[in-house]
Amino acid sequence: MRAMILETPRQPLRLVDLHVPRPDPTQVLVKVAACAVCRTDLHVVDGELPNPKLPLVPGHEIVGAIVEKGAHVERFKVGDRVGIPWLGWTCGECEFCRSGRENLCERARFTGYTLDGGYAEFAVADERFCFPIPKDYPDAEAAPLLCAGLIGYRSLAKAGAAKRLGIYGFGAAAHIVAQVARFQGREIFAFTRRGDWAAQQFARSLGAVWAGDSEASPPVLLDAAIIFAPVGSLVPLALKAVARGGTVVCGGIHMSDLPPFPYDLLWQERTLCSVANLTRHDGEEFFSIAPRVPVRTTVQTFPLAEANEALTRLRTGKLQGAAVLMP
Ligand SMILES: [Zn+2]
Ligand SMILES: [Zn+2]
Repeated sequence: MRAMILETPRQPLRLVDLHVPRPDPTQVLVKVAACAVCRTDLHVVDGELPNPKLPLVPGHEIVGAIVEKGAHVERFKVGDRVGIPWLGWTCGECEFCRSGRENLCERARFTGYTLDGGYAEFAVADERFCFPIPKDYPDAEAAPLLCAGLIGYRSLAKAGAAKRLGIYGFGAAAHIVAQVARFQGREIFAFTRRGDWAAQQFARSLGAVWAGDSEASPPVLLDAAIIFAPVGSLVPLALKAVARGGTVVCGGIHMSDLPPFPYDLLWQERTLCSVANLTRHDGEEFFSIAPRVPVRTTVQTFPLAEANEALTRLRTGKLQGAAVLMP
């Protein structure tokens, strides 16, 4: 099968011919129809996340049909369309796994990071971590739901009951979260890179009541803000934009260092937290709500061999919505 692999961090991916992987007893073999490109893939390729599997097939927003299954696979049958997310395996035994927090499992394995992912024609995955994909979604439009959607949804849940919600960085996750948040009756305030009118316009088209530069003050104080951009200097700006008792959620796996800031910004019971990974429960909740909104994703598709180009466009902010590879 053809696959794009990372051999050395900070080098471009290489198109190679690999053997089709064999599914273990609890795994399914999936013919990849679409694999979305996530900012986390950039962090892996750029060497910002420690100890990736090498060589590695990146990609953790995979949609495809099952073509073969292991002897113990029970949830799915050959021909079923499934999604393979970032959380690829957990131990099921540790304190975190046993308390509904498998996203924090210290032995967890991650698709496209410590397990091979979906920048390839085929991928294997443990069936217990796969999701059925709602039928109304074409493959390419479904792919970004697997991470931008799931982790975006977990970030939104961390924002609590906030009515006025700020979103910093209006990319793939934000464009999905904005739709769910509006469906829940919240108001969206979108913050983008300075002067990125296209992204601000995109946010308004998805129902944001206000869109502006990330350094700008919103017209009213917010109840919560989610930061999707991997930029630590946004943290004090977001704390400044939320009212007393407000929450700032850092939704990315990697962020540049946070600058020192006055305690006053955190005082009055403001909360600052991060979101790590996802649980299967998040996925079940999100996939039940997404078709009811209904969440629509904006995608730009690329052939598998153009994965490096898709990553470059994401790095430079030249994408609207999500990039999706179509092997
Ligand atoms: Zn565990
Ligand atoms: Zn991701």
